[in-house]
Amino acid sequence: MPNGTILVVDDMARNRSLLEAMLSHEGYAVLQAENGLGALAILERELPDLVLLDVQMPHMDGFETCRRIKADLRTCNIPVIFISVSDEARDKVYAFTVGAVDYVTKPLHPREVVARVNTHVSLYRQQRELEALRAAQIDHLKIVDEIKTRFIRAVSHDLKNPLGLILSATDMLRETGLSDEQTQLIGIIERKAHFMLAIISDLLDLAHLTAEEAPNYATTSLRALALEALVGFDLQAESKQLAFSVSLPQEDALVEVDRHAVSRMIGNLVSNAIKYTSQGGVEVRVETAPETFSVIVRDSGLGIPPEALPHIFDKFYRIPLPAYRQEDGTGLGLAIVKAIVDQHHGSIDVKTTVGAGSTFTVTLPRRARRPINHKESSA
Ligand code: ADP
Repeated sequence: MPNGTILVVDDMARNRSLLEAMLSHEGYAVLQAENGLGALAILERELPDLVLLDVQMPHMDGFETCRRIKADLRTCNIPVIFISVSDEARDKVYAFTVGAVDYVTKPLHPREVVARVNTHVSLYRQQRELEALRAAQIDHLKIVDEIKTRFIRAVSHDLKNPLGLILSATDMLRETGLSDEQTQLIGIIERKAHFMLAIISDLLDLAHLTAEEAPNYATTSLRALALEALVGFDLQAESKQLAFSVSLPQEDALVEVDRHAVSRMIGNLVSNAIKYTSQGGVEVRVETAPETFSVIVRDSGLGIPPEALPHIFDKFYRIPLPAYRQEDGTGLGLAIVKAIVDQHHGSIDVKTTVGAGSTFTVTLPRRARRPINHKESSA
């Protein structure tokens, strides 16, 4: 096995032979071309580990040849060393600007040429090894991610059934003439089982959203979508004696979104607003612009400390302070919101003051942004 393959490009046969002798002695296989066009023709069929390129050649000089080698995706990473009679700094600088990695001047000193070739061939090999390693790691990570997603889906499905059974059993137990204390204990079991179902539902949603599945786009009325998403929240707010107001655009607009996902997104934001507010109220506004629409959810609640703000969209993050922790939560709600916003190529903005409340503004495009050639899934 040769140490590698070197393409020698020089219009002088004597120089080519001299270089071939030096390099063969070092264990390299040598390809020869007598001008730039000849070199490009060889590169069409074979990819050497390095090109030794004479600067002055008829028809196409070394600089132009190098520029073309660097402009081709197949050959752009192959190291090029220039050989020239000129020892002028200007020429050397120019050689590097067209993409050379090194420069040797004639008359050639065999040991210098060989040392430079060895260095660059070995650097190029290391670079390719690193790239191969990186590509293998990315493939590996994709597989691990896929396994994790499948695992979450499988476990979540398996947990749903027994939890359903637990809830039916507690329902039946209630009918058996329980003492107050027993009724209270059943209440705890039910609340916790519902909470576990909420975690499972969040995990399943997140598994779908992060599996790079395209949104299930459908054209829908923005007003209808918002009203559907807000069902029941007025009662929730009322039970905490909070004001709850909704303002929708006067004129309805058609939007192309994943209806279920966007409804979930609005629900999560409003649910948080009510959960983390104990006085005042929650206001939901939907606004339209020519290309986008926004959902603005404002509360007069706890607000979010500045140190916590960068983390609130992380999976399982919950602000570790008692005032927030006393509320039930999975720490997945905002991660789901963020995933839905990203899936729709939208943006999210949070303005917040501790003790005064928060405003979450989500802005989404009114029309689906599909990647080119993306296969449509219709609702
Ligand atoms: P959780 O299920 O805990 O509510 P989320 O992912 O929805 O999880 O939110 C993450 C954390 O961000 C919450 O635990 C809470 O600490 C904080 N948070 C979210 N929304 C608000 C809000 N409107 N006001 C104050 N804090 C909030």
